[in-house]
Amino acid sequence: MRTREIAVRAGLKLSEYGLFDAGTNDLIVSETEEQVYDRLGLPWIAPPLREDQGEIEAALDGSLPALVTVDDLKGDLHSHTDLTDGTASLEEMVRAASARGLSYYAITDHAPNLFMQRMTDEKMLAQRERIRALQAEYPGLTLLHGAELNIDPDGEVDWDVGFLSGFDICVASVHSHFTQTPEEMTRRFVRACENPHVHVIGHPMARLIGRRSPVDADWDEVFRCAARTGTAMEIDSFPDRLDLPSDLIRRARRLGVKFAIDTDAHAVGHHRNIRYGVGTAQRGWLTPDDVINTWPLDRLRAFLAKPTP
Ligand SMILES: [Zn+2]
Ligand SMILES: [Zn+2]
Repeated sequence: MRTREIAVRAGLKLSEYGLFDAGTNDLIVSETEEQVYDRLGLPWIAPPLREDQGEIEAALDGSLPALVTVDDLKGDLHSHTDLTDGTASLEEMVRAASARGLSYYAITDHAPNLFMQRMTDEKMLAQRERIRALQAEYPGLTLLHGAELNIDPDGEVDWDVGFLSGFDICVASVHSHFTQTPEEMTRRFVRACENPHVHVIGHPMARLIGRRSPVDADWDEVFRCAARTGTAMEIDSFPDRLDLPSDLIRRARRLGVKFAIDTDAHAVGHHRNIRYGVGTAQRGWLTPDDVINTWPLDRLRAFLAKPTP
């Protein structure tokens, strides 16, 4: 632990009981973490940053990030209803989003190429009508109609440009062909990012912790493309996903990528998972400015317009 080394060099001893003089064993401070850090000549470092990933150096030169918090989030950009594999109705999911105090909320049910979800154009358009009608009951919560598209093995997605342009937002995710070579997988993500109708890459590594390994890609190349095309990378808050994980978040951030911290909620109770996504983002050093769903709606909409290449 780096803070213990710093203590030793200063002739001190740091343990879970406090900070001691190494010679006399006298207790110096033990009340608060702030006191301990202060005596070591450091500002307090938030627990999610304590991974020896440069936080000591950042603390010393005053460049620790002001980490994103749950309260910073203004919206959720990925959720499902019982129109596909969610268990709650549109109305129930919107009520839950409203109870979270969000100011915008995207419904993103699965697109037709995930065949078992039996999505059709007609069902999607009928859902849009229901959302527009429901909007009248929620003056403080802007409802966005979206979809979770499937990135096929070549990087193409569901529907044609005409249909896609009817959505407010599209998340696009890998749901099949997980074992492509890294070259194929990289090309697949790059192609998806270059699609002007793809705004967020959902659960990018497609891992299920303990059940499915992450897909393999040249992530730096994917992240560079995401940054260039204005495509956000998702941090999926599901406890068995936590995808992107914090090490890749840090890499992506250095390459200029923006992020969306989403619940991918399939039930009302899943909204509570958001804290795991935020915790992962904190371990990835993200500030509110890095996270598009902390932004006011007009700034988000400008981002969703994507730059024309
Ligand atoms: Zn998905
Ligand atoms: Zn989803």
